[in-house]
Amino acid sequence: MIVAIDGPAGSGKGTVTEIISKKLNLTNISTGDAYRCVALFAIENNVNENETEKIIKLLDEIQIEFKKEQDKDVVFLNGKNVDKRIRQKDVTNIVSKVSAIKEVRFKLNELFRKISENKNVIMEGRDIGTCVFPNADVKIYLDASLEERAKRRVKQNEELGIDIPYEEVLESIRKRDEQDKTKEVGALIQADDAIYIDSSNLSIEEVSDKIIQIIENK
Ligand code: C5P
Repeated sequence: MIVAIDGPAGSGKGTVTEIISKKLNLTNISTGDAYRCVALFAIENNVNENETEKIIKLLDEIQIEFKKEQDKDVVFLNGKNVDKRIRQKDVTNIVSKVSAIKEVRFKLNELFRKISENKNVIMEGRDIGTCVFPNADVKIYLDASLEERAKRRVKQNEELGIDIPYEEVLESIRKRDEQDKTKEVGALIQADDAIYIDSSNLSIEEVSDKIIQIIENK
């Protein structure tokens, strides 16, 4: 079974997919983390987000793995746990641009499909129900108001020890929404057959329960 959860930054995708994956014993894959790994690798190699050809070349040197550590889903870049590092501002600022490169998307989509083979998977991102798994068994488009999403992201950052003021987070999400929705490939749009959930006034538990019910009905 493939469950696809798409939606903008801060809509709660990451948190609810982690909860649902544990409750229903599904493999949890956060595709945004993989795009963040590519952005981080570019930074580590002094390549900026406009140097498309150099980023494409770097793809051959990148190995991304999703693992469990102390019951938490974490991402590894070339053997190193980068779960916290990839949420820093420098990565967030360039990830949308890096993920707009077609070659990056093709390479990562291939990886996402490969690691999903013979597994029951819940995968979250921007284009899972539209591009990566257009035949997914369940498709959810999770949304929330911009202000609510910024508030959540500030709280999440605080928990990770990342200190960015609300106004700056709001502006960064607004800009990323715009970039994500206007990409040539893999743009953020709701699939025709996706179920729309607005989580602005719902708790994490309410959203997860709603999605679990939809999955169980399948
Ligand atoms: O989900 P998260 O906010 O961590 O994703 C980081 C960025 O990666 C997004 O803003 C988007 O530009 C990109 N992304 C994407 N396609 C996906 C998942 C993420 O382009 N399926």
